Amino acid sequence: MSLLSVDEARERILSQFHPVKTETLPLAESSNRVLAEDVRAADDLPLFDNSSMDGFAIRAEDALNAAPDSPRRLRVVADIPAGTSPTISIGPGEAARIMTGAHMPQGADSVTPVEDTDFHDRSAGTAAPEEVQIFKAAKTGANVRPRGMDLQAGDVVLQAGRQLKPQDLGLLAMLGFSRIPVHKIPRIALLSSGDELIPVDAPLEKGKIRDSNSYMLAALIEGAGAEAIRLGVAKDNFDAVKTLFEKAVYLRVDLILSSAGVSVGAFDYAKEVIESNGSMDFWRVNMRPGKPLAFGQYREIPFIGLPGNPVSAFVGFEVFVRPTIQRMSGVLSEGRQKVRVRAEEQINSDGRESYLRGEIREENGILLARLSGHQGSGNLHSLVQGNALLIIPAGVKCVPAGQELYAWYL
Ligand code: AMP
Ligand code: MG
Repeated sequence: MSLLSVDEARERILSQFHPVKTETLPLAESSNRVLAEDVRAADDLPLFDNSSMDGFAIRAEDALNAAPDSPRRLRVVADIPAGTSPTISIGPGEAARIMTGAHMPQGADSVTPVEDTDFHDRSAGTAAPEEVQIFKAAKTGANVRPRGMDLQAGDVVLQAGRQLKPQDLGLLAMLGFSRIPVHKIPRIALLSSGDELIPVDAPLEKGKIRDSNSYMLAALIEGAGAEAIRLGVAKDNFDAVKTLFEKAVYLRVDLILSSAGVSVGAFDYAKEVIESNGSMDFWRVNMRPGKPLAFGQYREIPFIGLPGNPVSAFVGFEVFVRPTIQRMSGVLSEGRQKVRVRAEEQINSDGRESYLRGEIREENGILLARLSGHQGSGNLHSLVQGNALLIIPAGVKCVPAGQELYAWYL
């Protein structure tokens, strides 16, 4: 077993994955899904010149020097509610009452808000006045949102590989896209292994522990945009492990993810099962926690075996599985967003690329980081207490207080 760097291990894994197939979904069902094609605007936005205020559409030249003590009096020749298309043209000395978002009439090039006129009746249903006094100097283009100001037909507005945010759905609706090409959701079979594991609601027995990894990993999978198919716990014997792998094959999943049972212990059967119908590598990765990592394929389905210790499983997921899910989902940027933080205390490491549980807080605009509790790989509580993983690069044994480092905000 050679010692791989984290990057080498991740690259080897990622090279085996490709985006899953695509499908077309109704717009309302495409939130958080990953766009499979670039989207080009079919229309200009705004669609037409419109008013950004409730007020009066005028010709700016009619009120260039208007002021409270020298108002300009204009004849109101039209009333333009939102949703209508004015047919009238505004001539010299004329105005039209106009509502926010309504189509600008021809001839007008400026909107005077109702607050800057003598017309103050804002109750619903009030008819437009016959005349209006303008109290404020008008400027060409004021309070008018011209057609195409935000974007123009033909512009690429959303790129393939983008995970659709709520505001993206709004923009797609503005542009008239009702069906969206997206990637399917990768399906991941999740299994735990170990004779010591009992269900969360079973009475405790001597020597047993509750299967916690499957809950944490399923939530991580779902949070990363994939579907977790929980296959349960395999006992430490060949047939039990094989049964669950066969189930995963039957379900035609995109990835089999297990925790535990992949070290070289006497009761770790995953390797034998996989090698009976595929191939598996054990890697020692130069990282902490979570040195042992298994990667292979069972009947052509990729397999990742994370360590059993809960914190190692969590870190292994973040380092290797999240980017894998993103690759399968068609997401362009892979991995979590890193933030730059400043060590608030000296942080020691052992020279492996380390992902230490930490706590980040902000002070005067600077993100300060310290360790959260003891770093044993079974101590999930210190992960719960912290809010970040602090990343200490390989080769670094000490980060002095005041030095900057990268972290993942959790
Ligand atoms: P193993 O890789 O099987 O040697 O397991 C390493 C450690 O992780 C042992 O202490 C296991 O009891 C623990 N462990 C394994 N699977 C789970 C699980 N599903 N939930 C919680 N702890 C686990
Ligand atoms: Mg075990």
